[in-house]
Amino acid sequence: MAGSSPCASCKLLRRRCAKDCIFAPYFPPDDPHKFAIVHKIFGASNVSKMLQEIPVHQRADAVGSLVYEANARMRDPVYGSVGAISYLQNQVSQLQMELAVAQAEILCIQMQQEPNLPIQLDQDEKSLLLASCNNFNSIPHQYFNFASSSNVIQDPLKRESLWT
Ligand SMILES: [Zn+2]
Repeated sequence: MAGSSPCASCKLLRRRCAKDCIFAPYFPPDDPHKFAIVHKIFGASNVSKMLQEIPVHQRADAVGSLVYEANARMRDPVYGSVGAISYLQNQVSQLQMELAVAQAEILCIQMQQEPNLPIQLDQDEKSLLLASCNNFNSIPHQYFNFASSSNVIQDPLKRESLWT
C-alpha cells in the first residue's frame, strides 16, 4: 500500500519495516507525529505488546485511544484525559446550576406578573418561591463563587471514581 517506504514507527525506530509489521496499518509514514507522541508517552515496545494482546479488529480503536490519551498526557501529565473529563463535568454542573437559577427567575417573573398563572406548584411552594424571588440578585454570585472554587485539581477522589 505504502510501497517500499517504512511505516512511521519503523522510520522513527530506524529499523526495517517487515511485511507483517504490527504498527504499519495504524501508523502510516505520512503522519510521523502520531507515532512519535504515542512512543514518547507509552514506549514503542509497550504499544507493540498492547496491540498483540488484542484482536485485530479492535486495534484501530485501541490506537485511536492511545493517540488521544498521549495527546492529553502531553497537555496534562498528571491526569491526562481524566483532567479534561473532570473539567467538562464541572462546566456542565455549573451551567446546570445557572440554568436552574434562570428558570426559577423566569417562574418568579411570571408569578409576579400573573399571580393566577396555572403553575404546577402547590400554594406553599408558590409562596416559598415568591418569598425568595426578591433575593434572586444575590444567588448567581453565590453560584459563581462556588463554581470557581470547585477546581478540578482540588477533587482527587471524584476524579478517581471516574475510572471505576
Ligand atoms: Zn513498520
